[in-house]
Amino acid sequence: MTATAPREEQLWSRCAGCASLLYRKRLRRNLDVCPECGEHARLGAPERLRQLVDPGSLCLLPDRLPEADPLDFVDMLPYPHRLTGARASTGLAEGVVCATATIGGHPVALAVMDFRFLGGSLGCAVGELITRAAERALDDRTPLVLITASGGARMQEGALSLMQMATVSQAIAALREAGLLTVSVLTDPTYGGVAASFATNTDLVLAESGARMGFAGPRVIRQITGRALPEGFQTADFLLRHGQVDMVVQRRSLRGRLMALLAATRAGRPARPPVPRQEPASHRERLADDGAALAGPAAEGDTGTPAVRDAWDTVRMARHPGRPTTLDYLDSVFDGFVELHGDRLGADCPAIVGGVARLAGRHVMVIGHQKGHTTAELVARNFGMASPAGHRKALRLMRLAARLGLPVVTLVDTPGADPGVSAEEQGQAAAIAENILTLTVLPTPVLAVITGEGGSGGALALAVADRVLMLENAVYSVISPEGCAAILWPDRSAAPQAARALRLTAPDLRRLGVVDEVVSEPSSAAHDDPADTAHRLRAALLANLLPLLDVPPAMLVRLRRQRFRRFGANRVGARAGLR
Ligand SMILES: [Zn+2]
Repeated sequence: MTATAPREEQLWSRCAGCASLLYRKRLRRNLDVCPECGEHARLGAPERLRQLVDPGSLCLLPDRLPEADPLDFVDMLPYPHRLTGARASTGLAEGVVCATATIGGHPVALAVMDFRFLGGSLGCAVGELITRAAERALDDRTPLVLITASGGARMQEGALSLMQMATVSQAIAALREAGLLTVSVLTDPTYGGVAASFATNTDLVLAESGARMGFAGPRVIRQITGRALPEGFQTADFLLRHGQVDMVVQRRSLRGRLMALLAATRAGRPARPPVPRQEPASHRERLADDGAALAGPAAEGDTGTPAVRDAWDTVRMARHPGRPTTLDYLDSVFDGFVELHGDRLGADCPAIVGGVARLAGRHVMVIGHQKGHTTAELVARNFGMASPAGHRKALRLMRLAARLGLPVVTLVDTPGADPGVSAEEQGQAAAIAENILTLTVLPTPVLAVITGEGGSGGALALAVADRVLMLENAVYSVISPEGCAAILWPDRSAAPQAARALRLTAPDLRRLGVVDEVVSEPSSAAHDDPADTAHRLRAALLANLLPLLDVPPAMLVRLRRQRFRRFGANRVGARAGLR
């Protein structure tokens, strides 16, 4: 190796598409698009901003948040070491860069994700920074532009990173209510929790040429279905063909397209009735006051579950085929269940059941994942893994409940959303994203119970609630222990270690504030005494639901927002410090 080698590498770079050796300066002049084959190389956030915004208009928003390692997560490396490495290699504080700027003279707030930083993963800090950018847009009454690039939620922050999907979505919902445009630009790659939340629940979704987007990654789908994937699966053109994005845009046209869209909405805005709002400065303080009034359970305190069981044993307990299912609870806990079917768009998903029922004489809407006790039942119900049609059926029932003034009770028991080819074609990510957003603002009480497996985005699509309960032997996680082990450990046999690291048990999540109350199970387990379990669940549902019925809907929504806003990095950091 000669001393000139590094400089040589900086001068030239090889195209990932056609392997042409390209002069670096020429490539950059061409916006990092290969002049030979049109391959769009991935861009870091700073370069992306430079390409998109008007020169001299960029004003970076603060990017420093208190250090947080809420789970004390260790795989092959402690999480703080991975963070330090990502900072050193990218020069960024976190996986997103937020700013205000103008694009063609139109003021916007922007959040640009950077895939180089731990795969653009969505953790508490990233969620908090994007939420602040959205709040800045609301304060300034400007559109919000999100440029996404992410492998999904950040495993090292467990269920707290899953909560960020709700936190950012509710900020998007606030902009939607205020009549302010939200635009996401999908860049390569955008997957998992980011795809299933703010990448797809914005008003407009643009895909950069060559970008791939989906809920489940191609490797996972291939592994589970055992089949080859269709040509061009999950690419921008595939997404366009299946109605998932508004347009596919070449990088050189992206700024121009954004300018045109921003101009159109600006022209349209004065026609809308102005939304009454208080002074921007007091907006968040008011929420904070409400949060204090809510006096939700503190992070510490008695969980009522002294039994300490290994996390991996709990995972196996949560998956036990004898464990009561949603239909069992509808029979034992509720009365007069009338099932409602269909998404009104062409399908009825058997993995989700829902309908009206009575709880101690009160009418409620119950929606839950349905597994089964036998192999035949499990197969017929797709193991409780909902398709997009299932999520859309749930959405329809949630909205119906709000119109009828019925409280919503959800029972969550799923390994995750259906990871299949047709699920991706039918917009799994967007379906989950819309449910999460709708639940953040649903004007009726919502009570969620994790009864078995709470598997990532598929679980959260039913679990953005005023109160979240969890059965003692249930689990709730951003990723399955097997999936986490396959990525962060040498192999899947490390699933028990991953289960411990992920803090997915009820007592752990109660301590982290993800769950409000742990519902104890009979001393053996739920599957050994379903009647006693039903009795305990019914008591917990009533104790938690009745107080919610007296809260006016607007207040409910405000408190719910506060509940999910508190998972931001600064609050988690403070909580971790208390431990
Ligand atoms: Zn090329």
